[in-house]
Amino acid sequence: MILISACLLGRNVKYSGGNNLCQWLAKYYNTEDFTAFCPECLAMLPIPRPPVEIQNGSGEDVLNGKACVKDKTGLDVTREFLSGAQKALQIAKKKGANYAILKARSPSCGCGEIYDGSFSGGKKCGNGVAAELLMQHGIKVYTEETITEEELIKILQNK
Ligand code: SF4
Repeated sequence: MILISACLLGRNVKYSGGNNLCQWLAKYYNTEDFTAFCPECLAMLPIPRPPVEIQNGSGEDVLNGKACVKDKTGLDVTREFLSGAQKALQIAKKKGANYAILKARSPSCGCGEIYDGSFSGGKKCGNGVAAELLMQHGIKVYTEETITEEELIKILQNK
C-alpha cells in the first residue's frame, strides 16, 4: 500500500483551497494500491487556511519539542500538526503502507527540503512533520519530484 498526499491527486485540500495535481501520478491512482490522505485535514484544520511553516527547525525538531509550527498570522498550530502526523501514522499502520508519495516542501508532507519559516519562498533542509514521523516508522517516503515513473511501476509490480 502506498500513501499519497491527497492534493497531488487534485483534491482541493491545500491551504489556499486549491490542489497540487500531479497528472502523471494521478494516472496511476487506484484504491487498491493507494490510500490518499491529508495530514492537515486529519488535524481538522480548515480549508482554506493561512499558510504554515515550521519555525527554527525541521519536522524532526517539532516531534522532539524543539521547534514549533506557525501560520502566517503567528498562530501556533504545532499541536494540530502533531495530531495530523499521528493520525497519518495510524492510517499507515492500519493499511500496512510501506511507501508514501508526499507533496514536496510542505511543512507536513515535505521530504528532504521544506520552506524555511520566513514565508518568502526560501527553503531549508528537513522533512515535514508527518513525513518525518512516517520515515521514523520505516516507511519509505518520496515526493512527486523524487519518485520516477519507473520506480512507481516497480513498486506496484512488487507489492
Ligand atoms: S498537508 Fe500534505 S496532503 Fe495536505 S494539502 Fe498539505 S501537502 Fe497536501
